[in-house]
Amino acid sequence: MSHAAIRSLIPLLIACHSTPASKDDPDDDVGQDTDTDTDTDTDTDTDCNLGEWGEETECTPEFFAASDVPQDQIDLIDQGYQTASSAWGNFGPLEYWIVGNDEAAAEDLDAHYCDVRMEKDPSLTSEFEMYCLDREYSFVDYVRDGGAGLSPQHSDYAEYDFFMITHASKYPFPHETDYTVVAYHEYFHVVQFAHIDSRDHDEQRRLMVEHPWWSEGGAEYMAQLLYSRQPGVDATYLKEQMSWKMQTKSLLEEGERFTEIPYGERAQIGYSLGTWFIAYLIHQTDEESYSIHFFDDLNSLGWEAAFATNFGASSEEMLDNFEDFLQLPIEEQLEIIP
Ligand SMILES: [Zn+2]
Repeated sequence: MSHAAIRSLIPLLIACHSTPASKDDPDDDVGQDTDTDTDTDTDTDTDCNLGEWGEETECTPEFFAASDVPQDQIDLIDQGYQTASSAWGNFGPLEYWIVGNDEAAAEDLDAHYCDVRMEKDPSLTSEFEMYCLDREYSFVDYVRDGGAGLSPQHSDYAEYDFFMITHASKYPFPHETDYTVVAYHEYFHVVQFAHIDSRDHDEQRRLMVEHPWWSEGGAEYMAQLLYSRQPGVDATYLKEQMSWKMQTKSLLEEGERFTEIPYGERAQIGYSLGTWFIAYLIHQTDEESYSIHFFDDLNSLGWEAAFATNFGASSEEMLDNFEDFLQLPIEEQLEIIP
């Protein structure tokens, strides 16, 4: 197996508020396999791991956490998953890997991760295991950098397909509102990826759109919108968040479009203005055209045709109109935000 092929076994990563990965060496008391929910089938049993990619499932995710992660933090993510999957559909198989602040505990969790991979996918070789243990973006990196990320595993190089969401314990911190919003955000990436049938990484990137404005903007707007609808959340919450995101407009360079900004240092501009673009798109059409119908058409029509079919204009035309919208005073812009 070539190095590139082995690399392909390491799931693609959507590093949202940061980045993911793994290592090896099982200590059973280390990676806690936490059965937080009362549902039964969270383990490697049959049905839950063999569903068709993209089909909704009754199965619940598996939660794995480093030994220094408190149960209430795991519960918080579980609640986030439950709210998000109730709103947008339940997809899987899904694994949550929750990293704390202790590097040694994260190293043990990395080891456990590689064991789980080997256990769930008999097609993986010892070569993969070595690679896994030395992954580029490991749980230890999450201890250092914080954040969260989604890695979908859906390629020709492995037999076991799954989604993996990693949450760190900082940026955001578990006591912050954003921890729940990020849990929704990562779960919306699951929804996005569940609607891409291709096992080819390049095609997956094309349908997700390479730069962050589209997929991140969508995950972020849907997450913020969902959070704003939760009981007890201030009625001005969403408008406040969106006002803040609009400020990134001032960071654009002369003639620069937010759609051209790649992942990396300035990605936040793409995230924030992308969030506004999705809000604008939903305002021009309706929420289901974006969150359901567009994704349902994505495989059969391709990205641009799914866009035009569901939003009534080409992406270029819609983006041109949005550029005009970006020039409006913030008070007028906020009128489209519920
Ligand atoms: Zn994201």
